[in-house]
Formats: sequence, C-alpha cells, structure tokens
Amino acid sequence: MVEKVVIVGSGPAGWAAAIYCARANLEPLVFEGAITEDNRIKGTLPLGQLALTTEVENFPGFPAASFHQFLESALPEQRRPYWVQDKVKQPGHAITGPELMDLMRQQAVNFGTRIITDDIVDIDLSKRPFVIKSLEGNTIEAMSVIISTGARANYLGLPSEDNFKNRGVSACAVCDGALPRFRNKPIVVVGGGDSAAEEASYLSKFASVVYLVHRRDKLRASKIMQDRTLANPKIKPCWNSAVEEVLGNDKDGVTGVKLKNLITGKTEDLAAAGMFVAIGHTPNTDFLNGQLTLDDKKYIVWKTAHRTMTSVEGVFASGDVADSYYRQAVTAAGSGCMSALDAERWLAEHEEL
Ligand code: NAP
Repeated sequence: MVEKVVIVGSGPAGWAAAIYCARANLEPLVFEGAITEDNRIKGTLPLGQLALTTEVENFPGFPAASFHQFLESALPEQRRPYWVQDKVKQPGHAITGPELMDLMRQQAVNFGTRIITDDIVDIDLSKRPFVIKSLEGNTIEAMSVIISTGARANYLGLPSEDNFKNRGVSACAVCDGALPRFRNKPIVVVGGGDSAAEEASYLSKFASVVYLVHRRDKLRASKIMQDRTLANPKIKPCWNSAVEEVLGNDKDGVTGVKLKNLITGKTEDLAAAGMFVAIGHTPNTDFLNGQLTLDDKKYIVWKTAHRTMTSVEGVFASGDVADSYYRQAVTAAGSGCMSALDAERWLAEHEEL
C-alpha cells in the first residue's frame, strides 16, 4: 500500500498537519520518533521540545493563572459558567508542554491518524513514491511527505548541565523564565547572539540580576540588541568567561555555576537559581542526507516564501525544522496546518500518481 501522506515528527507542527490531513481524508501516518536513550540525551524524544518544558503560558486558548480569574474578567456575569459563579475549584495552571502535546496527539488520533513510534533512518526522495525506512525495519512508500522534525537546542555538553535540566537549566526563557523558582533571584544566561540578548532581557523582568556569560568580549547580537542589553541595569555581562560546571543539589536544583575567566584562567562560584543556555539550535535534518535544499545552518528552505513546499516536489516542511527565527509552539502549529493544506492541494493536482 502506498500512503497518501507520511508525516515525520511529533511536535506541534506534526500534529497540526496530522489533524488537518486526517480531516481531509488523507489517512495520515505519523512517525513520531523512537523512545531511545540516544533520543533522550539529544532532546529528540517523541512530542518534541514542548515535552521538555513545564508551564506553557503563551499558547492561545490556555490562559494562565486561574481560569476563574480570567473568566471573571473576560465575561459579563450572565455568561460566566456555573463553576466560576459558584467558585468550584478548577486546576490552577494553564497547561504544561507535555499536556499540550498529548492533547494534540489525541486530537490527531481521534480523526483517524495512525502513529508509528519509531525514527526514520533512511528516506529516498529521488523518485515517487518516496521510500521511507525506520529504525525498527518498517519500509513505507508515500506519495507525499511532511517533514516536521523540529530542532534541538544546543547545550554546553557538561554532565552537571544534564543533571539539572528542568530543575534550573533551560534553553527557553520564554517557556520557563516566569516560573516562581527564578523570581527575584540571580540567573545566568550563556551566549552572545540575538537569542542570548533576548533571553537576558526577557529574564531581567523576573530575576534580581541576569549574568550574561559570553566567551568573548563582544556580543554577536545585532547592534540594536547589543545596545538594549548593555543599557539594561539588571544585566551584568561576564566577558571572556565560560561555565565550567553547574552547581546545585537534589532539593533546590541549580544553586549557581562555576565560572572560568578564559583570559586569566581563574575560576569563581556565582550564585544563581538557574542557567539559560542560548548558544543556538540544530535542526533535525541529518536523516535527509542532503536530499532537500538546506540553508547554511541546515534548516530546510521553503521554495517560495509563505508556502511549505521544499526543493523536492511532494515534500513539505513545517515547524522549527524550517524556521530558525520564530521557533514558537503556535507558529509551528500554524505552519503544520499550512503544510497539510499544501500537501492536500498538491495531491489533488497529481491524482494520476
Ligand atoms: P547565534 O547568532 O549563532 O549565536 C550563538 C552565540 O552562542 C554566539 O555568541 C556564540 O559565541 C555562542 N556560542 C556558540 N557555541 C557556544 C559554546 N559552545 N559555548 C559558549 N558560547 C557559545 O545564535 P542565536 O543567538 O540563537 O541566533 C540565531 C539566529 O536567529 C541569528 O541569525 C539571529 O540574528 C536570529 N535571531 C534574531 C532575533 C531577533 O532579531 N529578535 C532573536 C533571536 C534570534 P561567539 O559569538 O563567540 O561565536
């Protein structure tokens, strides 16, 4: 049997694409990734980067804080649900990343999406139907493919950093920065590009001080971001410095970092409640073996702006794997929808296939 559409990846782009393809009767098959130790270490387990975060406060439709509070302020009295009027207890949080991903997956399943929990190890895009091979030995033929394999945050690679992931070590200030554990405490941001500048500035709203640790004495970030960052009284640059070790314990998570001055060689312990790593992302495109046009950072290039077609006809890309710029759950889900609509239209135009 030749599949009409195979979706590779299980973040917001993959599930949005699956929901739209399933509702268009394309009977999508999703390869959601394998549950392996290798994927755990690389940060590429099924359900993507959101499954590695905690609270998600910026996905529209899930207001943070108390639902009661939100509905009381948003709705006139006669339209408030009974449980708001009667103050019936509801969950206190908005939604967490793992919950959001499980709900998206379930929504795709409810419309008939089939799922294989496996990685793609080989894909032949040189002729149609495309041939896809998985780690566990599945071979699938497909008329069209949507690639939504996302990107993974680069980390420093320290063993101590790995120990404290989700307990003070993060690579996403927008995802985790507002958590109570960081409020009015010192925080370390590592990196010198636009992401690090943006993360430092975002975190300065919550932290008592943000130490911006950069390995050189000049930021790589754009001029405007540099000026803004260096003018922020709560951001203290630590030039020519590198984090040698993340300090902490089981009870409190991160309590600080061991910082090395790369010029003098001296080390010092810096107290901090968290460390945000902003040293770039790596898109998950290795398995494509150079068959699609990638940019210089290995992100998939869309052939036409605002369309999800790639350099190979019948292959579409959505989410972070084709976006080094926005990298948000909601933008990934939006482009997942676009790739499903593009695939549906392309399949309709190529009914002879
Ligand atoms: P980036 O520009 O590649 O910067 C990465 C930074 O991390 C560099 O300062 C680099 O140091 C440092 N770094 C890399 N590996 C490191 C390591 N192992 N240890 C310590 N430091 C390390 O990445 P980015 O900041 O994520 O930006 C990616 C792209 O998105 C850029 O084109 C950027 O302009 C864009 N972006 C734009 C905005 C915006 O306009 N608002 C926001 C975010 C991102 P060196 O400088 O020494 O190489």
